[in-house]
Amino acid sequence: MLRDLYNRPVRDLRISVTDRCNFRCTYCMPLDEYEWIDKGEILTFEEIARLARLFVQLGVEKIRLTGGEPLVRRNIEALVAELSELDGLKDLCLTTNGSLLAEKAVALKAAGLRRINLSLDTLDPDKFRSMTKRGDLEEVLKGLFAVKAQGLSPIKLNAVVERGVNDDDILNLVEFSREHGFAMRFIEYMDVGNTNGWTSERLVSKKEIFERINARFPLREVGRENGSAPAVDYEFIDGKGEVGIVASVTEPFCASCNRARLTADGKLVTCLFSSVGHDLKGLLRRGLTDAQILDFITSVWTKRSDRYSAERLEALQASAYDPKSHKKIEMITLGG
Ligand code: SAM
Ligand code: SF4
Ligand code: SF4
Repeated sequence: MLRDLYNRPVRDLRISVTDRCNFRCTYCMPLDEYEWIDKGEILTFEEIARLARLFVQLGVEKIRLTGGEPLVRRNIEALVAELSELDGLKDLCLTTNGSLLAEKAVALKAAGLRRINLSLDTLDPDKFRSMTKRGDLEEVLKGLFAVKAQGLSPIKLNAVVERGVNDDDILNLVEFSREHGFAMRFIEYMDVGNTNGWTSERLVSKKEIFERINARFPLREVGRENGSAPAVDYEFIDGKGEVGIVASVTEPFCASCNRARLTADGKLVTCLFSSVGHDLKGLLRRGLTDAQILDFITSVWTKRSDRYSAERLEALQASAYDPKSHKKIEMITLGG
């Protein structure tokens, strides 16, 4: 079985279907002007489906469609339909900002999508607008309830917690998720990309997020799904659902990281904080066979030694971390 240098298999593939996004979240990609990937360089659905099939042959069991904003890619439901038929794939998910979900909910369900993750950092419309720079909370909530009405389940809500911005929204979000049967997941603010101006002062740790929730709604730890998921899950002691916390900064989970990423322009990226990708699109477009592409992916994965978050924690503890010292691929390009 395919293993990297730390004996980690490849199980989870995150496919960025476009780098474009109709939001400009301050913690992700706040720039109004950006050099987008040229349309001709973006993988076609056929190319994505072929690569997805090859990754499944190498051990991938779960695929997440992401971006940028995946729903701005025209006819995304056609790709969902194709991937949901993929032999050997156990789980297909999509992560969205929800802005176009109301109009896409029926088509996504019909295409075979069974579950979805939606980013929701606050329930305050003004704050929502200022955090996303362009987003309309009402539209997003409409989309959220549209997928609920379609029966997608579970519906997970992701909130990036930033000190002084939305850390006072944690309990409101928990109450909202409990009331409507959504699974809330809080994500430590990370230094992704090169433009969000991350500083450790704006980080709210998993420990602090846990304590704030636990004081109001007592929790019991359940652990990581399959032992390797980014989120540590907790159930509410009163039985009203679950909440997860993703502690990439304070409790890195590199040791069990089995995630590969495919950029919208067909590069294989082996870590969220990578500065380089490995060109698969070139291989596809030069007419290489499946066996040759499998060999290439195998050679990349067997040399993989990424453990960026673990190294960052060591550097933070030694007060020697400078997020700007390392140029990264933007999150909108490689897929969150
Ligand atoms: N546009 C979609 C969305 O927002 O859900 C999908 C792509 S987005 C890059 C994927 C996830 O990355 C979102 O849940 C977002 O909150 C998260 N994310 C973006 N920037 C982050 C940061 N600086 N720290 C932690 N998570 C971040
Ligand atoms: Fe926000 Fe997602 Fe767009 Fe990043 S890709 S700016 S997180 S909506
Ligand atoms: Fe995986 Fe890289 Fe994140 Fe570590 S920092 S968990 S290796 S993506």
